[in-house]
Amino acid sequence: MNTPPVLQLEAIERRYVQGEATLVILNGATLAVWPGESVALIAPSGAGKSTLLHIAGLLEHPDAGEVYIGERATTQLADSERTAIRRSEIGFVYQFHHLLPEFSAIENVMLPQMIRGLGKSEARRRASELLGFLGLAERLNHRPAELSGGEQQRVAIARAVANAPRILLADEPTGNLDPYTANRVFDTLAKLVQATELAAIVATHNLELASRMSRRVTIKDGQVIDLG
Ligand code: ADP
Ligand code: MG
Repeated sequence: MNTPPVLQLEAIERRYVQGEATLVILNGATLAVWPGESVALIAPSGAGKSTLLHIAGLLEHPDAGEVYIGERATTQLADSERTAIRRSEIGFVYQFHHLLPEFSAIENVMLPQMIRGLGKSEARRRASELLGFLGLAERLNHRPAELSGGEQQRVAIARAVANAPRILLADEPTGNLDPYTANRVFDTLAKLVQATELAAIVATHNLELASRMSRRVTIKDGQVIDLG
């Protein structure tokens, strides 16, 4: 490919010291993701999927190695700069939606935009467009508790991309959903990646859903292995 990767993990190492023992989680993990690509990360529980996503999302520091966001090395940057990059370039979706319960769907998607300085009406316009694109036009004013699990996750996806990040990191986003709903959420994700040239890494245990992404990788002995 001619365009550079938008996210690059280079020889990442991460270990946890627990008393006498050192737990090596990532040991030279390397991965590059290009715009418009969705990468499924499939590995057993405890393999280091969340750790890898947290490091890719600049939420955690690696013990060694480098994380490039749009060709910019990030490990030596000040926390404030890492936070700024995270806010503008990276969106997160977790297994549990973490929506603010007292706010409506549209408000949950407006808030991150307003925190970044966008005016209320522009934030509302964009939130409404995004939620419509994700099939939630009729649910704008529902609170999270008034939405189904799949709808909640689609709102969480809309919120994650509200500030038009270039990278979307999803940590078992459908792990809590029934197969039919998981399917719909995955379709939504795929549609979004295609329409916006996002680069996505999605940790999942669902092989059928993973088969619909551009590429599949796993973590073995602390390294990222291509599954094709
Ligand atoms: P996965 O998401 O693939 O289930 P994780 O990345 O959450 O795996 O965790 C990988 C391993 O690292 C697990 O064995 C977990 O117990 C361990 N681990 C994660 N975070 C910590 C921590 N803060 N301290 C010690 N061990 C941790
Ligand atoms: Mg995990």
